[in-house]
Amino acid sequence: MQQIVLASNNKGKVAEFTNMFAELNLPIEVIPQGQLNIEDAIEDGLSFVENAIIKARHAAKISGKPALADDSGLCVPVLGGAPGIYSARYAGKHGNDAANNQKLLDDLKPFRGTAIQGMFVCVLAYVEHADDPLPQIFQGIWQGEILEASCGENGFGYDPLFWLPELGKSSAQLSKQEKNSISHRGQALQQFRQSLATKTVK
Ligand code: IMP
Repeated sequence: MQQIVLASNNKGKVAEFTNMFAELNLPIEVIPQGQLNIEDAIEDGLSFVENAIIKARHAAKISGKPALADDSGLCVPVLGGAPGIYSARYAGKHGNDAANNQKLLDDLKPFRGTAIQGMFVCVLAYVEHADDPLPQIFQGIWQGEILEASCGENGFGYDPLFWLPELGKSSAQLSKQEKNSISHRGQALQQFRQSLATKTVK
């Protein structure tokens, strides 16, 4: 069975990936980089795709194995795409979900009155090795609206503020399976799976 390092130390994302990989029934063993004591890479790109490649190369370099990285976040067009690639540290401190959500609510106050569109974005980058000249890129986009107050207990990050009008629920009110079947990360991972099926990932 092929081993792939998952280049993330975000507990919420690692849990989602672990579940999704189990459901996809792929002939690969996914090892979260934390199990190999690999610390987070410095994400100094200006786009999701640049940061995903930086993270994948970092994990591949230290582990000596192929690596799959996810860079994801929430983009809100009325905020010029913010929080965007800075989603995890929007309020200053990396991974403080409560503070990030509060800052988003504060920043959106001037725009309230009509529905505020937002989208979760996930870019996956797969590299065979640290210097791979041809990283494979898979991208998922999940459209929704930004709520005025938290709703729901599931998920992580901005899930309690992400409203899905067609379902009448926030993403924090979806079960793991429901979220994975439609989310930005689920979409990107399905593309990764298809690339495995067509053997574009060696
Ligand atoms: P990254 O680890 O740099 O990719 O940061 C991703 C950040 O985007 C997370 O810390 C969350 O704040 C946000 N995010 C990404 N995906 C999701 C999701 O599925 N639900 C909620 N927040 C998400």
